[in-house]
Amino acid sequence: MRECHDVLGIGFGPANIALAVAIEESGEPLRVRFLERQAAPVWQGGMLLDGSDIQNHPARDLATLRNPRSRYTFLNYLFEMGRLVQHLNLPLRFPLRKEYAQYVAWVAHHFDDQVEYGCTATEIDLVQHDGAPAYRVRTESGAEHLGRALVLAPGRTPYVPDVFARVPDDRIFHATQYLYQVAARPAPAAVVVIGGSQSAVEILLDLGARFPEATVTGLQRSFGPRLKDTSPFSEEAFFPEFVDYYHRAPQASKDRLDRELRPTNYSSVDGDVLERLYTTVYEQRLDGRQRLFLRNNTDVTAVEPEAGAVRLRVRDVHTGVTGTLAADWVVLATGFRDLGPGPLSERWPPLLDKVAERFHVDATGRLLVGADYGLAPRDEREPVLFLNGLCESSHGIGDAGSFSLLSLRAEKIRRGLTARLRAAAPAGRRPLEALS
Ligand SMILES: Cc1cc2nc3c(=O)[nH]c(=O)nc-3n(C[C@H](O)[C@H](O)[C@H](O)COP(=O)(O)OP(=O)(O)OC[C@H]3O[C@@H](n4cnc5c(N)ncnc54)[C@H](O)[C@@H]3O)c2cc1C
Repeated sequence: MRECHDVLGIGFGPANIALAVAIEESGEPLRVRFLERQAAPVWQGGMLLDGSDIQNHPARDLATLRNPRSRYTFLNYLFEMGRLVQHLNLPLRFPLRKEYAQYVAWVAHHFDDQVEYGCTATEIDLVQHDGAPAYRVRTESGAEHLGRALVLAPGRTPYVPDVFARVPDDRIFHATQYLYQVAARPAPAAVVVIGGSQSAVEILLDLGARFPEATVTGLQRSFGPRLKDTSPFSEEAFFPEFVDYYHRAPQASKDRLDRELRPTNYSSVDGDVLERLYTTVYEQRLDGRQRLFLRNNTDVTAVEPEAGAVRLRVRDVHTGVTGTLAADWVVLATGFRDLGPGPLSERWPPLLDKVAERFHVDATGRLLVGADYGLAPRDEREPVLFLNGLCESSHGIGDAGSFSLLSLRAEKIRRGLTARLRAAAPAGRRPLEALS
């Protein structure tokens, strides 16, 4: 008979890596298997830009908030690498993104025996296994994996605005693919970057430095790139208490809190990066050799892929004045989809298409996500499914797909898994004790 794991995890990015750590440190004898699309653990590989830094306090890592004595903390990683003193002497406010990515990979490699890399989950459904319902996950290669519980952590779906989604073209790609595309393509003469996010500004600067002869245009609807809200009062949204407060709040309050807190993480840019962009453009003008341009207050109304370039029809959102821009590449730094009924959201992660109807939704059609990140099956005998890293709309911005509360969320999910697996164990079968 095929093996059925206690827990099957889809995705082995920071969210499920933190869960693997929490499970190991709990000593709970769960049989766990993770499926990961990439061939090796790589955190945000498309955006490991030279000089870029992380956005979280480094101690908000894969373990510290849950267990500061864990061997999987960022500090212990530096210690084991023999870099602790040198690192602490760095004249940086936050660590380099590249170094944090190495830390994430280092932690992930401790769990190599639990992970199948190069394995893309394509479909999830329910089957009977050994007299009990279980999740079956099919993969791109045709393989099947079974689990008594599922933890879905594929990261959020990149948001591609409709006007671009209608004309798929490999010269138009999302920011998450940026460095992979740079490596695969000849140097461009013109690039347009869409959006006003941190990623947009980082990519504008990177393109300017990497291809000094290219014309690089940043295009966004707003008045201009905005400064991130880093007020310590706003940052309390990244406290664990806020997650519970938000989860209990009615939808109207959630919407209001989202509007107020949005600039702590979205459509806003760190001061150092913003100032570098402004100064770079100013200096290019001073030199009489401007290559970096910003087209603010501008919307893309049509996209016309042509043989030599992608042509964008654009319009000033206030004056209505129209124009066109031609580009070899169009980079969409347009963010990610949240779960929900709105036009920019998705009702559930696409992988859940075949099972989503089995779970309770609220009056607005939103999936009901419990405080422990478990979905509520309409039939209570059905196995549990947890969302890890996808729950900004139910748990708030502090729980966005970020590191800030990752290790605490992992612990909540671990406890939820353990409790629900125990409750669901069929008579005469004790899945959690199989390895003890
Ligand atoms: C450029 C960038 C920089 C960021 N920097 C920070 C930062 O400094 N600090 C911070 O707190 N947050 C940051 N974030 C937010 C980011 O979401 C989190 O850092 C973190 O990556 C979230 O982890 P995750 O595991 O939820 O998702 P991901 O990191 O996206 O990991 C999901 C994993 O699932 C895999 N996967 C997806 N689909 C499948 C499938 N069908 N089958 C198998 N595997 C699959 C993917 O390959 C991936 O490895 C950044 C985001 C971006 C885009």
